[in-house]
Amino acid sequence: MSAYQFIDHYYDVVVVGAGGAGLRATFGLAHSGLSTACITKVFPTRSHTVAAQGGISAALGNMGEDDWRWHMYDTVKGSDWLGDQDAIEFMCKEAPGAVIELEHYGVPFSRTEDGRIYQRPFGGMTTRYGQGTAQRTCAAADRTGHAMLHTLYQQALRHEAQFFIEYFAVDLIMEKGECRGVVAINMADGTVHRFLGHQTVLATGGYGRAYFSCTSAHTCTGDGGGMVLRAGLPMQDMEFVQFHPTGIYGAGCLITEGVRGEGGILRNSAGERFMERYAPNAKDLASRDVVSRAMTIEIREGRGVGPHKDHIYLHLEHLGGDTIHEKLPGIAETAKIFSGVDVTKQPIPVLPTVHYNMGGVPANYHGEVVTLKDGQPDTVVPGLMAVGEAACVSVHGANRLGSNSLLDLVVFGREAARYCAEIVKPGTKHRPLATDAGELAVTRIDKFRNAKGSLRTADIRLSMQKVMQGHAAVFRTGESLQEGVQKLSEVFNSFAEVNVSDRGMVWNTDLIETLELDNLLGQAVATMHSALNRQESRGAHAREDFPNRDDQNWMKHTLAWVSDHGDVQLNYRPVHLNTLTSDVEPIPPKARVY
Ligand SMILES: Cc1cc2nc3c(=O)[nH]c(=O)nc-3n(C[C@H](O)[C@H](O)[C@H](O)COP(=O)(O)OP(=O)(O)OC[C@H]3O[C@@H](n4cnc5c(N)ncnc54)[C@H](O)[C@@H]3O)c2cc1C
Repeated sequence: MSAYQFIDHYYDVVVVGAGGAGLRATFGLAHSGLSTACITKVFPTRSHTVAAQGGISAALGNMGEDDWRWHMYDTVKGSDWLGDQDAIEFMCKEAPGAVIELEHYGVPFSRTEDGRIYQRPFGGMTTRYGQGTAQRTCAAADRTGHAMLHTLYQQALRHEAQFFIEYFAVDLIMEKGECRGVVAINMADGTVHRFLGHQTVLATGGYGRAYFSCTSAHTCTGDGGGMVLRAGLPMQDMEFVQFHPTGIYGAGCLITEGVRGEGGILRNSAGERFMERYAPNAKDLASRDVVSRAMTIEIREGRGVGPHKDHIYLHLEHLGGDTIHEKLPGIAETAKIFSGVDVTKQPIPVLPTVHYNMGGVPANYHGEVVTLKDGQPDTVVPGLMAVGEAACVSVHGANRLGSNSLLDLVVFGREAARYCAEIVKPGTKHRPLATDAGELAVTRIDKFRNAKGSLRTADIRLSMQKVMQGHAAVFRTGESLQEGVQKLSEVFNSFAEVNVSDRGMVWNTDLIETLELDNLLGQAVATMHSALNRQESRGAHAREDFPNRDDQNWMKHTLAWVSDHGDVQLNYRPVHLNTLTSDVEPIPPKARVY
């Protein structure tokens, strides 16, 4: 298409995304001597990782006994036995080293009296295989992600990595099943670029914005997942969407689980600490799926607070001004701004809010993207890797434990870099590209740029978000999911009627938001279909018509392919119930007791 001239760039490795995962991979790659391009649609330190509050888990044992095996046990249990145990072993074992490394790079962690990294309790984190409460979550006050992201960016700048900032990656360049790189638009001047790499690492984050109320940034539109679906590859475990118990009522902004870690308590309209009934042991620190369901039941049964009895109170007044000021300063500010509450005197109105996507691009623990091909469930897609929230490794299975995502970012970002250094020789020559390389991307850009339909992007997006919020919710039934599938299919089809009013290429946010919506729609459809298909309750996927976990039939990962027309094809990959080494025994499935 002659209207769009490609500007070509050749690198050993191309990373898409500059959040925690992308930056950790990028500077690891640059450090090992591989020429590396990092493409990001927002300035690196504005990536959603910056908003992470509570902390990063690692069994350092700074505040009491701890062991990575207990961390592994908690993570497998938290995942409701859908997590791959080899990858979980890898993550939990690597965690202490990864966090100490961050400390040495300069992350300003909060400190104990004797100068060690401060660690707070978090939901589902225990000692001695569920016996005690672990203090495992390393924190920089309640701004851990901010501290980490800035440190990682500083480290990246020390090395030779090249950043392409405010470049929007549009599509993968695939040749005969192999990924050769990506096509991206430089948003500032509208030029179109092909970035060629021997490996392309997707680190594009989650797709929380498929929902109406979520804690994630407006940029969390699952662009990597959209690219993967268009490349004819599947997404994995998309039915598992985490609702965080404490989003601010109305605004959706997050109040970290660290608040409950520091002693915060949820109460209903009767003033009752109701979590004691639902989870007698863990109480307010039960895992997120458990607390979100309990809150939803309290509201449904008429014990919600406020004029409409439609939310719950989170109390931290009893913690005292000093603790709040020292450990939770950001929360105090957020609560003031978004709900007008002085947390030293009043409770915060909260509601379960979409927070994290357990599903993503299927990948192994090195970060290589895998797919089911010719009956082989672990077939590597040559040239393509995925890390961070965009990926499904799967270390979080059906439900992620708080503070395990920041850990996932640095452990697998680092491993992806290490693995690339093993398989790619610096300066390896690139094969010539096929003549049509990148055409898929320009065809889409051109189609949307000239779209003259009757519906605004924002209106279609809102319809999608409302359907997702209403039908792929905390509690699900076959009936409501079926209705969701139907409604979403209508929204998907209405996208043919989209209208983009800006026809230019320079800073065309109308076009970019439309490309983002395209990415969201594919993943919304995959989520709804996968949720309808899974006839059991596991982790964050709570089916009222199938209230029990069914290991016999459903201990398997869902794979979802979505066609250009929105048709979904489903298949499965087995869960890895084996460990990576003989350091630890596999953890057999058990009922979850809270
Ligand atoms: C409010 C909040 C608080 C959280 N708190 C915690 C916590 O305390 N502990 C914890 O473990 N987890 C927490 N999480 C989860 C965790 O922060 C996220 O899962 C994690 O930060 C995601 O990191 P990432 O690197 O995968 O992606 P992100 O940080 O989302 O970064 C995505 C990157 O991809 C780039 N990108 C995306 N699409 C494109 C495109 N098309 N072209 C070019 N670039 C693109 C973006 O520019 C960005 O740089 C929290 C999440 C939220 C929303």
